[in-house]
Amino acid sequence: MRLIIMGPPGAGKGTQAQMLIERYGIPQLSTGDILRAAIEAQTPMGLEAKAIMARGDLVPDEVVCGIVSERLDDEDASKGFVLDGFPRTIAQAEALDEIMQERGITLDGVLVLNVDADALIERIKARAEETGGARADDNVEVLRNRLAVYAEQTEPLIAYYKKQGNLKSVDGMASIEEVTRSIAEVLEK
Ligand code: ADP
Repeated sequence: MRLIIMGPPGAGKGTQAQMLIERYGIPQLSTGDILRAAIEAQTPMGLEAKAIMARGDLVPDEVVCGIVSERLDDEDASKGFVLDGFPRTIAQAEALDEIMQERGITLDGVLVLNVDADALIERIKARAEETGGARADDNVEVLRNRLAVYAEQTEPLIAYYKKQGNLKSVDGMASIEEVTRSIAEVLEK
């Protein structure tokens, strides 16, 4: 099973990706997690990404495409994967098509979690309080920027994948369990 999970920041992608990992035995490939690990390890890539991520802007396409292309060659990704946080731009989606084509693999679906912006702001506020602000990009100011970046750069992917026939849209406003159920439903249709 080769999937993409997308949706605005705070939509619950990570939570639902976790359930997909368990259900299908596939790894989650999160560009956000890989970038945060690079920042932690103070690698050159991490140093480049740090200020960009703190502002809620996007790391350059070449950087994240490089991450994904390498990660897809790892043994654990050979039977499938769920991409979380990638692609985020049309250029990344085109690069992914190429990366997959080179490897002779195709997508089984692109899950989109639909949520509204006000609800997201509330969720992020709660997450920032729970984690004591552990993530530099978990504050309302930065979230507004991330939502704007999403609307501008990432939302066009919905039409892109619709055209490819891979789009599977799910209501992300329901409870975690209900969203999980809806995802299972659209995938097994
Ligand atoms: P969330 O899951 O909360 O939406 P992520 O952990 O996926 O957030 O991403 C956090 C930040 O990492 C983004 O705001 C961006 O700066 C950077 N990032 C992650 N993935 C990408 C990507 N595919 N392209 C560009 N930047 C990315």
